[in-house]
Amino acid sequence: MWLREKTLTEFIIEEQRKAPGATGGFTALLNDIRLACKRIAYLVGKGALTDALGRAGSDNVQGEAQMKLDVLANDIFLRTNEWGGHLAAMVSEELEQPYLIPAQYPRGRYLLVFDPLDGSSNIDVNVSVGSIFSVLRCADGVVEPTAADFLQPGVQQVCAGYAIYGPTTMLVLTLGRGVHGFTLDREIGEFVLTHPGLRVPEDTSEFAINASNSRFWEPAVKRYVDECLAGKAGPRGKDFNMRWVASLVAEAHRILLRGGVFMYPRDSRDPASPGRLRLLYEANPIGLVIEQAGGRASSGLAPILEIKPDSLHQRIGFMFGSRHEVERLERYHRDFNQREYDAPLFGSRGLFRAPA
Ligand code: MN
Ligand code: MN
Repeated sequence: MWLREKTLTEFIIEEQRKAPGATGGFTALLNDIRLACKRIAYLVGKGALTDALGRAGSDNVQGEAQMKLDVLANDIFLRTNEWGGHLAAMVSEELEQPYLIPAQYPRGRYLLVFDPLDGSSNIDVNVSVGSIFSVLRCADGVVEPTAADFLQPGVQQVCAGYAIYGPTTMLVLTLGRGVHGFTLDREIGEFVLTHPGLRVPEDTSEFAINASNSRFWEPAVKRYVDECLAGKAGPRGKDFNMRWVASLVAEAHRILLRGGVFMYPRDSRDPASPGRLRLLYEANPIGLVIEQAGGRASSGLAPILEIKPDSLHQRIGFMFGSRHEVERLERYHRDFNQREYDAPLFGSRGLFRAPA
């Protein structure tokens, strides 16, 4: 029997009809973003069958080695989104400055921010990677946007989402009214609504953190992880599991579907760098998706979406996931960051601390 399914196009047009005065420009922009993700899904899915794997031999603006697919995915995002007339400019992880829409195309009212390929260090080992995107409004009257026009807190995002290129390719989207997941049907070439109204479970016993950095963590994070590791016998009274994919999109997707808490906290390794992940095109879009699904996203010190960015590639401590766990982490930050954590529950030292 043929099952009538709702495509992403149909979903977006229905949403457009709910917004009085909508002109369809935003719908067309989302269609272009969708196409960019399909083009990247195709390339990623080919793996070693094309010449697209491996290092590009160059560094990006942040001094990270670029993979060939970083460069290709960035180019796909720019080329697929520049011509439609809906954007004034774009900002990418791979570009130092905003990319202004070339003069031969009309300029529109929106700004697009993206990480074209997230988790790309995983690409050669066939682990899930993704693309992250966020749409902002361009202020009225601005035709030549500068970096300053992009420095808007995450609450101002018009829409945000990601594509995950895993065993299946999915596109996860929020337009500010819940979070919806679409699975790419490769035969018909359409994203199909398979996961409407996603909700992050409020409680969890799964956490994700790169424990090799534990000696640099702040007291609040040390305490939180110590208590998780102590399991049933500890103050939490239950056992926890740990996960670490090292691909933000894959971590966010797992947490969106079954709960959990992710931490890449600010640490003391490099006092000049207050975290690892980028606010504009990683933390903000993932933060909006998670919060729209009933979870919470925080720097530990403040809600992510309320932080006013101070530069395009600003890094930030980022934790998100099941609401009650992130609230606990925020509480520990308030309680513990003023003083040294002495792990009173475990005698004289935390589980991750070196013996005195
Ligand atoms: Mn990334
Ligand atoms: Mn990237």
